[in-house]
Amino acid sequence: MNYKTILEEIYKSVQPFAAKGKVADYIPELAKVNPDRFGICLNAIDGAVYSVGDSNERFSVQSISKVFTLAMALSVKGESLWARVGKEPSGTAFNSLVQLEVERGIPRNPFINAGAMVVADILLTSFDNPAERLLDFVRALCGSSDIRYNEQVARSERETAYLNAAIANLLKYHKNIECGVEEVLRLYLLACSLEMSCRELAKAFMAFANHREEFRYAGIELTRSQIKRMNAVMQTCGFYDEAGEFSYLVGLPGKSGVGGGIAAICPMRYSVAVWSPRLNSKGNSVMGMKALEELTTMTNESIF
Ligand code: GLN
Repeated sequence: MNYKTILEEIYKSVQPFAAKGKVADYIPELAKVNPDRFGICLNAIDGAVYSVGDSNERFSVQSISKVFTLAMALSVKGESLWARVGKEPSGTAFNSLVQLEVERGIPRNPFINAGAMVVADILLTSFDNPAERLLDFVRALCGSSDIRYNEQVARSERETAYLNAAIANLLKYHKNIECGVEEVLRLYLLACSLEMSCRELAKAFMAFANHREEFRYAGIELTRSQIKRMNAVMQTCGFYDEAGEFSYLVGLPGKSGVGGGIAAICPMRYSVAVWSPRLNSKGNSVMGMKALEELTTMTNESIF
């Protein structure tokens, strides 16, 4: 497969969408990002790396971090994790409060904010220094020792996180978080503030694409069966209330974030990460989704 040529073609074909969508400005620090950035990086199963555009520039991964935190929680809790968080698509926005109230504090899945907060609570009660452990884990996954949080982004989000605070309070009311509301919010928002490039994200996601390799990174281990299940949750819940649309247009397990990034995998073939900050109304990158739709169409490689 000539991925290099395909990525160059994709770069051209997404240009008509360059001005569509809007940068996430509800997080004040994210509103400052240059909306015209675009990068894509693909890691093939044979180890070759292909990229186009701003693929080495780091950006705020936001909700993509929910994949890393879920992997850590699953590694310590195993199947018992699913007693506290579901694995069904939510069909609602990532920060919706309504469903959480109706379902009495059990979030639909770990990839909406409420679910990721329960996961953050699990990390707080399972690790001595969960923020450090998450950094070590992500650094090991992508092979970059200088991955960091952007504390300024985390702080700026906390100052306006009224809805996320309401979600955390509702979880606490229903006794689905053990730690304090503030502590859970802090770790959740810190994880969201992780900064990675497309190149680093694609490398990190290769661990979920390659079922032949052992999953053991910085002391976090998953079985093959657990990786399969993580991929299933990415497929059904990775794009909030647009999971069906992403599955229809792209056909890959993946995860998006409001920083404009999307990471996805084609099992035993490739992992890919794309970044373009302008988002559609569901909070997914407009050009990113288009680029991945082109990728699976041009390569004819998806899970379907
Ligand atoms: N930090 C963001 C929030 O909680 C993450 C949301 C996202 O990327 N979808 O609103």
